[in-house]
Amino acid sequence: MTHQFPALSPEQKKELSDIAQRMVAPGKGILAADESTGTMGNRLKKINVENSEENRRYFRDLLFSVDTLASSIGGVICFHETLYQKADNGKLFPQVIKDKGIVVGIKVDKGTAGLNGTDGETTTQGLDGLSERCAQYKKDGCDFAKWRSVLKISDGCPSALAIAENANVLARYASICQQNGLVPIVEPEILPDGDHDLKRCQYVTEKVLAAVYKALSDHHVYLEGTLLKPNMVTAGHSCTQKFTPEEVGMATVTALRRTVPSAVPGVCFLSGGQSEEEASLNLNAVNQVPLHRPWKLTFSFGRALQASALAAWQGKTANKAASQQAFSTRAKVSQWGGFSQLERLGHHGSILHLTAMCISVVPLYS
Ligand code: 13P
Repeated sequence: MTHQFPALSPEQKKELSDIAQRMVAPGKGILAADESTGTMGNRLKKINVENSEENRRYFRDLLFSVDTLASSIGGVICFHETLYQKADNGKLFPQVIKDKGIVVGIKVDKGTAGLNGTDGETTTQGLDGLSERCAQYKKDGCDFAKWRSVLKISDGCPSALAIAENANVLARYASICQQNGLVPIVEPEILPDGDHDLKRCQYVTEKVLAAVYKALSDHHVYLEGTLLKPNMVTAGHSCTQKFTPEEVGMATVTALRRTVPSAVPGVCFLSGGQSEEEASLNLNAVNQVPLHRPWKLTFSFGRALQASALAAWQGKTANKAASQQAFSTRAKVSQWGGFSQLERLGHHGSILHLTAMCISVVPLYS
């Protein structure tokens, strides 16, 4: 069946594909700094810092002003508020990020809403007025967007309804973003809560991703101009059986190979409550799986890039340099996990340095 009504012009496709490629260029991942005001409040509460607009601005300025940011970060996801705040040097944050050659992104979903009649499952809201919001964000310096759908695992979840509804809403979001020149990061997060084992997570991940890619195809989404942000395949938090990073890597790559088309340029994993160390080790294992992996496999971590930096900061100006050091170390260790064995050989000059850094850093933040 020929597609008679092309959704995007060749120029629009090229722009989207170029943006996506820049975001996952070799050695680059994504900094998810798009915590909503409420979520940021939870993070700040842990270090006894008030959830004020200035404290949120200060911490994000601290992250974005790290000199070496662009060496490991290809894209930064912002929350709406951050887009219109200024750095200490008086520049708007999107300009600060762009000046470093990093792509600016925006979280556009409006959070979850219950699917009535299910066992506490949700869909994600934010489609109303989305096209107009995307057009404005593009004018304000953004080139990509993020939308998070949430699924959970239990004996009866995810339900067929939750899988179908979330796949459709993600596809509708992706289509609207692309019309407005934004690369959609498609994030169907399967939560790690529960006592399920690795096999069950792999099975559910495969079913969810298969539904997502069917919906993206139905909605004529241009895959070369998208990125996927999935969970790694891990056992539930309360599972008594423990799995090695190698087992996590193999289960993750197997699920992706069965469901994600090779036209998708990159897969950037969320950290989803894994510790910084766990997330880096698992990403590293994913990139060492001895199977063909046609996409870039990198990070789009929130907590796993920021936890040490927040802990080092404690809301004190005097701790700024230590906090920036902690963040930049995590970014470099995550970057290292995003390299395959072969790519590492190409970077042999920095191997010793990075290996030494990983060894010295891992116990420090565990
Ligand atoms: P975590 O890496 O902390 O899971 O956050 C990533 C994210 O953007 C979730 O939507």
